[in-house]
Amino acid sequence: MGHPEGDVPMVRWSYNDVHKAIQATAVRIKEEFAPTLFIAIGGGGFIPARILRTFCKTTTEGVKRNIPIQAVGLVLYESMGGIAEKPGTEVVRTQWLDFSTLGNMASRGGLLGRKILVVDEVDDTRTTLMYCLRELQSDINKQLDEVEDETERERLRKETQLGIFVVHNKLKEKVGTLPSSIKYFSAVDTPDVWLAYPWECDEDIDEHDSLRSQNPSF
Ligand code: 5GP
Repeated sequence: MGHPEGDVPMVRWSYNDVHKAIQATAVRIKEEFAPTLFIAIGGGGFIPARILRTFCKTTTEGVKRNIPIQAVGLVLYESMGGIAEKPGTEVVRTQWLDFSTLGNMASRGGLLGRKILVVDEVDDTRTTLMYCLRELQSDINKQLDEVEDETERERLRKETQLGIFVVHNKLKEKVGTLPSSIKYFSAVDTPDVWLAYPWECDEDIDEHDSLRSQNPSF
């Protein structure tokens, strides 16, 4: 997606910038949340989730294990057949969780008892994240309703936790407030600028990287 119209300053990020910012934040994520499932919001959250996974391996009986990544597709800024790209206000769900592969708690759809970290590249207005969390909570509630034993249901309710990781959090007014039960991690807090990520560059990637020297400093 291109830079939006107007005077919003553009800040370019290289792959290595993203990698290092995620690496630095992963230490806190492991200590304070210890995720057991990533839900990557595509497309922007896919590469960050994959990088984060490198730094969040778990060790069971001496064996290092990768945390699974599930992909969801949520589109807010959509190119509509030739019409200029502009911020949307509605989230379109293009892909959702694959409950058939969610793992060893398949009888309950695989969300219960997990520490679920939702990953996206940027928290802008927060519309996408709020939508994603609402949908996930609704799936979690449906699965909890299926647990007949009340003590077990309450245990699973407590154990199932939601967290968020974004590479960038834009410091601006958001459309919603996150419940305090949801742990929130951002690698970098930024002013309200336009962030240009390396995976979106459809021209010369070396030039994209070298133009970072012109990034505004804050
Ligand atoms: P939100 O729902 O938080 O307003 O927006 C989330 C989505 O908008 C992001 O996943 C991303 O696709 C897009 N977006 C918002 N701000 C930026 C930005 O500065 N750079 C890029 N590349 N995408 C952005």
